[in-house]
Amino acid sequence: MSDEKEKHKVKSQKHKDKVDAGIARAQEERGIVLLITGNGKGKSTAGFGVVSRSVGHSYKAAVAQFIKGTWECGERNLLEQNGVPFSVMATGFTWDTQDRDADIAAATSVWLEAKQFLADPQYHVVLLDELTYMLGYKYLDKQEVLDAIINRPAEQSVVITGRGAIAELRDIADTVSEIKDVKHAYKAGVKARKGIDW
Ligand code: ATP
Ligand code: MG
Repeated sequence: MSDEKEKHKVKSQKHKDKVDAGIARAQEERGIVLLITGNGKGKSTAGFGVVSRSVGHSYKAAVAQFIKGTWECGERNLLEQNGVPFSVMATGFTWDTQDRDADIAAATSVWLEAKQFLADPQYHVVLLDELTYMLGYKYLDKQEVLDAIINRPAEQSVVITGRGAIAELRDIADTVSEIKDVKHAYKAGVKARKGIDW
């Protein structure tokens, strides 16, 4: 074997040993809090990916969407057919109308359903899509939300998406991923696309 190949083999083995040791160390069985934040595209996509993964293993999942998109949601069309309950805002958010009370009422109605998901051990995973904004804008009571997440059933995992997560959400999360905006087609003038963006 050449020197180069031998070096590579030793390095790979060392890497494998480290990974194996890490896997051996991770023995705890419990649900996690996964926070997907940052300004890049892919947060909700990733959250729905986890929900699909669970449903694919015949686990039950539930979704609460805290911002009503302008468009229908492809994942909702698919997942509702597979028995995943969705709680979605009846009214849109209205940074436009500047009606803070209406926004708080809309956020609260979704939260009341989300809270039930978080108290129900039948759900293996609960997606709280765009929750970060509700805390950032103080539309929901921070401590109540944190408590409901912390006190969820032990086997349940929670996925939280949205930009600008407050520090407390990062603190209670077991896994935090920050998606970086390197570039986005929208900025080059490409319209949002059905099936890709929603
Ligand atoms: P997605 O739903 O595609 O995973 P996301 O959840 O990461 O996106 P949001 O902040 O929730 O991003 O924005 C939702 C919509 O805005 C999507 O249509 C998405 O394509 C678009 N979007 C996301 N990131 C950017 C960006 N950096 N610039 C412009 N548009 C974006
Ligand atoms: Mg999103």
